[in-house]
Amino acid sequence: VPQTIAIDGPSAAGKSTLGALLANALGYLYFDTGVMYRALALAALRAGIDPDDEPALTELAHRLAIDVIPPTVADGRQYTVLIDGEDVTWAIREPEVERIVSRAARFPAVRREMVRQQQIIGRRGRVVMVGRDIGTVVMPDADLKIYLQASLAERARRRLADLRRRNIELPLEQIAAALAERDALDAHVSQPAADAIVLVNDGLSPDEEVAWVLRQFVH
Ligand code: C5P
Repeated sequence: VPQTIAIDGPSAAGKSTLGALLANALGYLYFDTGVMYRALALAALRAGIDPDDEPALTELAHRLAIDVIPPTVADGRQYTVLIDGEDVTWAIREPEVERIVSRAARFPAVRREMVRQQQIIGRRGRVVMVGRDIGTVVMPDADLKIYLQASLAERARRRLADLRRRNIELPLEQIAAALAERDALDAHVSQPAADAIVLVNDGLSPDEEVAWVLRQFVH
């Protein structure tokens, strides 16, 4: 059984659904690295830092204490995210954050600091880590690497359903356009590792997908 599992792929491909189910099935820690970039973007918005201001963002990345802990409230969350102790679990999911997160995440010095923190968690083992560059940069020695893919139309429908659950209503075309924009900005970091299993999950239910992944190593 792999000790470290990396799941990468574009936005709304179902990485967090698969990652959380898999971690639960194995009794591993589930760690969603997107949360860290989102927390940075939220903190930048609040501090009035421009998402193109590399030195200010780099300084913020070093200064910010981002913690991900088990859920502190039973409101459907998978974990609680704290910035300097404040609960920002839902605030980092707001469309304003999504609009700038990929811009803030594009700077190498920002990424180095995020990756450094993620690698500390990865080295403990028994972890399912989810992101864009986990199999390539954060945990290049991961025991199992999965690159999830789904069509843009399917991803937009999933994101629409997520937003509706949070009482946010946006047109499907607008959601698809925002995902496509993020795909383009993330393309430089989001590539499947050479040794990743690429899984296209259009039309697969989460349970089918978990069963498929477990079959890759449990015989
Ligand atoms: O996965 P999620 O949609 O929460 O990630 C938000 C953004 O954070 C991504 O669009 C990407 O710009 C950035 N990100 C990243 N590297 C990761 C995880 C997320 O650049 N490992």
